[in-house]
Amino acid sequence: MILTFFMDGVKYSMMKDYMPFLASLNNRPVTSEFGYSCACHATMYRGKYIDEHNTWFIWKRGENSPYKWIDRVPLLKYMNILPLKLFIGKVTNKMATKSGKITAYSGVPCLVNLPLKYWSLFELSDNVMWNDPNWKKDIPNIFTILKDKDIKHRVIALHNKTKADDAFIESKDLDFKELEYVYYFIGYTDNMMHSYGDDVEAQEYLTKVDNFIREEYEKAKLVHENVTVIAFSDHGHIDLEGDLININKYFTGKKKVNDYIHLIESNYARFWFRNDKERQEVKEVLDRLISDGYGYIIDQTVKDKYHLSLNEKEHGEMIFYLAPPREFTNTIWGFGHSVKSGHGYEPIHPKHLGIFCSNKRIKKEIEFVSLLDILPTTLESLQIKDEYNLRGNCLWE
Ligand SMILES: [Zn+2]
Repeated sequence: MILTFFMDGVKYSMMKDYMPFLASLNNRPVTSEFGYSCACHATMYRGKYIDEHNTWFIWKRGENSPYKWIDRVPLLKYMNILPLKLFIGKVTNKMATKSGKITAYSGVPCLVNLPLKYWSLFELSDNVMWNDPNWKKDIPNIFTILKDKDIKHRVIALHNKTKADDAFIESKDLDFKELEYVYYFIGYTDNMMHSYGDDVEAQEYLTKVDNFIREEYEKAKLVHENVTVIAFSDHGHIDLEGDLININKYFTGKKKVNDYIHLIESNYARFWFRNDKERQEVKEVLDRLISDGYGYIIDQTVKDKYHLSLNEKEHGEMIFYLAPPREFTNTIWGFGHSVKSGHGYEPIHPKHLGIFCSNKRIKKEIEFVSLLDILPTTLESLQIKDEYNLRGNCLWE
C-alpha cells in the first residue's frame, strides 16, 4: 500500500535537522512553483504547469466575486473602516461556506487593507476543496483518478481551517487492511513556520509530525507486506529580515496605491489598469522599488521560465515580485507584523526548497524533485497507466 504525507511549507534543511525518520529515508529537495501554496497544490494534484491549470494566486479578477453584494448596498463600498471590513469579510465567508458555494481551503478571505470599492472585482481561483468532484472538472486530478480507477483509499484531514492535531486525530480510525492508498494532509506545518520561522516551536512541531509519520508506517506494515511512504512538501520558508516594505512610500505624487486597482499579497503587488496613464504611473513607482534592489516586474522571460503565461486581465497586467527576505506591509492579508517567515519566492533559493522523502529508491540522476513529478510517481506506485499527458516524471529507480 501507499501512504502519502503532504506537509505544507516544510523546508529541506529543517527536515534534515528535526525529522530524523524522514531524514533516514531516501530524500531530495523539491523545487517549488513561483507562487503560493494554491498554485503548488494545483500543480501536484494535476501534473500540469500553472498556465495550464490556471491557479496561480488565491484571488483573480473576474465576474464571480463573493463580495458582489457590497455593490448593491448604497455607499457601503466607500466606507473604509477596518472593523467594518473585518465584519464584511467574516459575514461573507460564513454565508459562502454555509451555502456550500465556496468551500475552498482558504474559504473567502477578508481583503483586509484593500479599499472596499475593489472587493467585488475579485473572485477566487479555486472555490471548492481540491478533492471536491467539482474542482475544475476539465482536467483529471489525483482524487478523480483514484475514484475512476476504483482504488480503495482515504483522504485524511484535507479540509479548511486545519488545526495542529487534525491529521493525528482524524487518522485514528483508519483500517489499513481495507486500503490501498492513504493521503494525509498536514497543513499546520506552514502556520508554524509563518509564526516561528526556524525557532524551537517549529522545530518541535516538525519532530512531532515526523514521529506521527513513522508510527503510521509501522501500523500499515503490520497488515501489508509492501508499504511505500511518500512524504513531501510544496515549498520551504525564508525567515524575513529588515523592515516590511510600505509601497505607498514609493508613490511620490498625490496618488497612492489605493487609487489603482491592485492586490498586494505578501511579496507580490499586482495591478490592473483603466488607461495607459495609470500603467505609466505605476511603472514609475515599481521602477523605484527596483532601483532600491527590492525585486523585479515579472516579464515574459520569467513567465516563460516558470510557465506563468496566464490571462493578464485575470491575474494581473503588471506584477511586481518582492525578493527575499522581504514582504510588504498593508497587504490583503493584514499588516504582516507578526509574520516571521515567508514563501512564494522565486524557486531558486536554497531555503525555499521543499522535501521529497520515500523508503523507495529515487533515480540517482535526480537532483531536484519537481511538484510536477508527484502525480506520475503516485500513479506508477498504484500501477495506474499514465493516460493523462502529465508534465512530470516518475521518480523511482
Ligand atoms: Zn504551502
